[in-house]
Amino acid sequence: MEIKKGIAVSPGYAIGEAFVLDSESYRIPKRVLAPAMLEAETERYRKACEAASAEVAGVQASFEKKVGKAYAAIFEAHLWMLKDPQIHAEVLRRIREQRFNAEYAVSRAFRRYAWMFRSMGDEHLSLRVSDLYDVEKRLLRHLLGQKRESLTTLTDPVIILAHDLTPSQTASLDPKKVIAFATDVGGRTSHTAIVARALEIPAVVGLGTVSTDISGGDRIVIDGNRGVVIISPDGETLKKYEGLSTSFRAFGKRLTSELKDVPAVTKDGTRVELMANIELPEEVESAVRYGAEGIGLYRTEFLYAREGAAPTEMEQFKAYVHALRTLSGRPLVVRTLDVGGDKVMLGESQPQEPNPILGCRSLRFSFQHPALFRIQLRAVLRASAFGDVRILFPMVSGLQEIDRAKDLLKAAMEELDREGILYNKDLPVGIMIEVPSAALIADRLAKEVQFFSIGTNDLVQYTLAVDRVNERVANLYKPTHPAVLRLLKHVIQSGADAGIRVNLCGEMSGDPVYTMLLLGLGLRSMSASPFAIPELKKVIRTVSMDEVRETTEKALAMDDPDQTSAFLSERARQILPEAF
Ligand code: PEP
Ligand code: MG
Repeated sequence: MEIKKGIAVSPGYAIGEAFVLDSESYRIPKRVLAPAMLEAETERYRKACEAASAEVAGVQASFEKKVGKAYAAIFEAHLWMLKDPQIHAEVLRRIREQRFNAEYAVSRAFRRYAWMFRSMGDEHLSLRVSDLYDVEKRLLRHLLGQKRESLTTLTDPVIILAHDLTPSQTASLDPKKVIAFATDVGGRTSHTAIVARALEIPAVVGLGTVSTDISGGDRIVIDGNRGVVIISPDGETLKKYEGLSTSFRAFGKRLTSELKDVPAVTKDGTRVELMANIELPEEVESAVRYGAEGIGLYRTEFLYAREGAAPTEMEQFKAYVHALRTLSGRPLVVRTLDVGGDKVMLGESQPQEPNPILGCRSLRFSFQHPALFRIQLRAVLRASAFGDVRILFPMVSGLQEIDRAKDLLKAAMEELDREGILYNKDLPVGIMIEVPSAALIADRLAKEVQFFSIGTNDLVQYTLAVDRVNERVANLYKPTHPAVLRLLKHVIQSGADAGIRVNLCGEMSGDPVYTMLLLGLGLRSMSASPFAIPELKKVIRTVSMDEVRETTEKALAMDDPDQTSAFLSERARQILPEAF
């Protein structure tokens, strides 16, 4: 049994078989063979080695012609690995004695060597690790031939292990087949993590080398609450996790049915609005099931990501109207396209940027692609004739962007007028406050729009200069940093002074650790992953505003964000011990 610690990004537990998705996205099967098949399997392995060696020799020869002998020597190492008697013996032992299929035997042997090379602390050997993976992959390609399995052909439930999953890959996962996933890289507020929460798939990220340390078919446990992955768990651990998994689900169900139809109101009568964030159209149903009072953030970029192309005006219009029907009168906040950063890019043709997080993303992208933007504005406007639709512009950094977005919206309205198409002429317009410049002038911006939605995922990233998806700096990503709290306070106060609605739709809203603090800062509207709503409601209904004020005052007096977080966690634990 081996335990690995990463970053918990999507709660829940899963026990199952590992499906290692390597960079070529195929699966390494694990089978135990009948004794009569072992000779043939050994021969299959031998043939794969021969073919791989011939291939390497060919590559080496042509490389030598192009760049000379010295550089081509790198392939010597590959040939040596393909002939190495110790590696051979290990693979053959796994086939003949343990009766594993050749793919699994190769993968286990090569990964064990890679692990050994890495852990010896010898720089030369650790440089050889990528060569080992290269040779492993080459052998697997020969062994698997056309029989490569992909994510789309899964038949049994699995746990995916990958170096990384893109948000759109994650969005296309079927939660019935993929019961959890773990990745080498990533952070808590990455869009891959957000989508995992949306699909309620337990997930752990930032594990370093999990995708190469584990072989397909290994039995593993994913603990999405504590950020732990357990490889080959022993009997006692398995039993413990089976119990945890059952009680986690039962707790969620109980909370949902107990609280679905009651309002989020503190013990002394302060009312809080709880809305849901969604990425995919089908999540509207689960938002309603969990008791959301509306959709506070519809991340429409996933409509684009799923199809790999921009949806037409009619397709978008239908998606929004579908949401409105399910919401039966509740509000729907549609955020316009927020591509770029760690998110979806539209089409391969977009130029690579050296620093995409600070590049042509979001509203900037929409301004540079007015035809695409116009289609979305028209679709949102047309849907507004069918229910309470509000429009939200992302990544606003100053006044001029609001003016420009409003001008384009006005132009779309005039077009619809000319065509005699109905829409809500008083469509509420809001902006995301997620760039520090916007937060600092929130008092000024509040005069121009009907509502704010605070995006703490980006606000924390830009304020602290910490990439939200980079696990190497995840320990520096601190929502309780005094600078962030000051900005939040200013934005909420500015909204209140101007008499506009202020919602917070970043991941901070969905974490019960921060609920008291946010209430204490004056926030009265939150938008979070649907499944988080019952827990948030429970916290809100358990506290009084006196307790909230006292907790917030203490938290704001602290200089050390870690101390603030620990203090808030402890307060939340006292209120809702079952959730922690
Ligand atoms: C945010 O930045 O907090 C936010 C809600 O937007 P996204 O996570 O989609 O960037
Ligand atoms: Mg954002």
